[in-house]
Amino acid sequence: RRAISSSQLSIDPLTSDQLNSLHSKLPPKETLKFGKTFAPHMLQIYYNKEKGGWQSPTIVPFQDLKLSPASAALHYGLECFEGMKAYKSINDESDLRLFRPELNMKRLKDSMARLAMPGFDFDPQELIHCIGKLVRLDQDWIPSGKGYSLYLRPTVIATHPYLGLSPPDELLLYVITSPVGPYYASGFNPVRLTTDNPYVRAWPGGAGASKVGGNYASTIMPGALANARGYSQILWIFGEDEHVTEVGAMNVFFLLEKENGNRELVTPPLTRGDILPGVTRQSILELTKTWGEFDVVERSITMPEIQDVGSRGRLIEAFGAGTAAVVTPISAIQYKGQDIEIDAPGDLTKRLFSDLMDIQYGEVEGPKGWSV
Ligand code: PMP
Repeated sequence: RRAISSSQLSIDPLTSDQLNSLHSKLPPKETLKFGKTFAPHMLQIYYNKEKGGWQSPTIVPFQDLKLSPASAALHYGLECFEGMKAYKSINDESDLRLFRPELNMKRLKDSMARLAMPGFDFDPQELIHCIGKLVRLDQDWIPSGKGYSLYLRPTVIATHPYLGLSPPDELLLYVITSPVGPYYASGFNPVRLTTDNPYVRAWPGGAGASKVGGNYASTIMPGALANARGYSQILWIFGEDEHVTEVGAMNVFFLLEKENGNRELVTPPLTRGDILPGVTRQSILELTKTWGEFDVVERSITMPEIQDVGSRGRLIEAFGAGTAAVVTPISAIQYKGQDIEIDAPGDLTKRLFSDLMDIQYGEVEGPKGWSV
């Protein structure tokens, strides 16, 4: 096993030049825009097959990368990433928390394996330890308060300077961090979705279950077209049965009332490999199962079914789920030229939003192991 050895982690201090070229302290937290401001340090770990695999991790000042223009990442999209957050406890600012980071590490390893990147068999605890050091070093950059956090972006790129289409021998794993504010600055902002477009995000046997850059590149143009037509995101569907997969860059949930009057929370299954296994998705499934208040089911759900339950007043709620916004209420879905309207935000959406945040911000301990 080629290790990432957190015991060899070294930390390079910021030079005064670097300090001057960066924000020297956290800007007023109300002014933060997602992904535009970066904390002063980054974690870097090189992988080099000839040198025996993973090299010693280093924390260095946030800086530009020097890459060969032949790097495989730039030609064949050999890039994968993660999105996670570090939170300050509401009751104790010195208590820094990650939410289920081992799930992000597992997904990163799976994404690397899907891209034939070597070194994916690293020990996840070693990388969590290095990320912990980075977060502690830049802890002044975690804005405090509910909804505020330090967004963490672990990234792996193939730096191998080779134009042949083959598994890369050289990688750079790095983690940059960005202070962020609440997704909803003033209350929920329900989204209107459209399915009316000819594009497909992912397909069985593709890479939809992996967090690889290529999955996102091809969604930007369809997303912009949907925006121009007044819909904020695309509800991605696939196949002749028009089964629902995801919404924008989130997993999707529907709360339905069944014929017998019972309620059912439905999210599409991971079995086809066309859905990203979200940390929020898994947490919502686990949490709602413990409530025992309604059926919680991972099953295929198609647009004809959604149209049918919608027309019979049995589509109670719909929401997206992901790290960025926790949950996003859905107020309409355009299908075959008609908008299916949904009450939003619903009670379940609101309850999940506050229950998950209470755990993330340490106000409620939550299930064992969720906070690290
Ligand atoms: N689906 C896609 C395509 C995503 O990019 C994300 C965000 N990582 C999610 C779902 C939600 O995953 P998570 O809950 O782990 O943020």
